[in-house]
Amino acid sequence: MWRTARQLHEALAGRVLTRCDVRVPRFATADLTGQTVTEAISRGKHLLIRTDAGVTVHTHLRMDGSWRVRPAGERVPGNHRIRLILGNDTWQAIGYLLGIVEILPTAGEPAAVGHLGPDLLGPDWDPAEAERRLRADPSRPVGEAILDQRNLAGIGNVYKAETLFLRGVNPWRPVGEVADLTALVDLAKRLLEANKERFGQVTTGSRARGEERWVYGRAGRPCRRCGTPVRTADQGSDPGSRVTFWCPHCQT
Ligand SMILES: [Zn+2]
Repeated sequence: MWRTARQLHEALAGRVLTRCDVRVPRFATADLTGQTVTEAISRGKHLLIRTDAGVTVHTHLRMDGSWRVRPAGERVPGNHRIRLILGNDTWQAIGYLLGIVEILPTAGEPAAVGHLGPDLLGPDWDPAEAERRLRADPSRPVGEAILDQRNLAGIGNVYKAETLFLRGVNPWRPVGEVADLTALVDLAKRLLEANKERFGQVTTGSRARGEERWVYGRAGRPCRRCGTPVRTADQGSDPGSRVTFWCPHCQT
């Protein structure tokens, strides 16, 4: 999302909107043309596009959403999947299958995303606050807790699994029993930072196909450190989308 936000920022910020096509019923009549986009930023997995009229377009990709930036005037395919088009005289930003599209006063953003914890890639990243939120529920499995965007925003399934592997922490270990939570959070941030500029998620240091990650997506295959088969299971209240991977030998 950080990368997407930057791409949208480069295409939209500082330019006047000449096209605003919102294809969700609730905001279908919204018209932001004539307003200048001031910035596009990510908050965790949320995206906020702000204008000089004090308006924010808030979107979230959910499962299948994506954004594409194309030259203005270019015919865009996939019409039935488009939920939002914002364009200026140079670019058009097209949002496909967005899980959330809403238009709200910028002052009302906290109601939409204020429940999020500190953003790992945000300018106002606050590790102490993230740790405080994590520790507030010490019996919660750490794999669930670090994925909960209300604690800290930005960790998805891949970084959850990889961070816990690299720290040798079992995903079901209660937060209160993690020896060095500060180091764990710091490592998650460094993994996100290391990948934010590129497509794909590399945690092993190797970009070679099939070698990018330690445990994520490697169920049944030998742990890269000890050879024990990597295990997988659902974790948390949202089966299927909350799959985790771990090495039962390296992670305790
Ligand atoms: Zn292992």
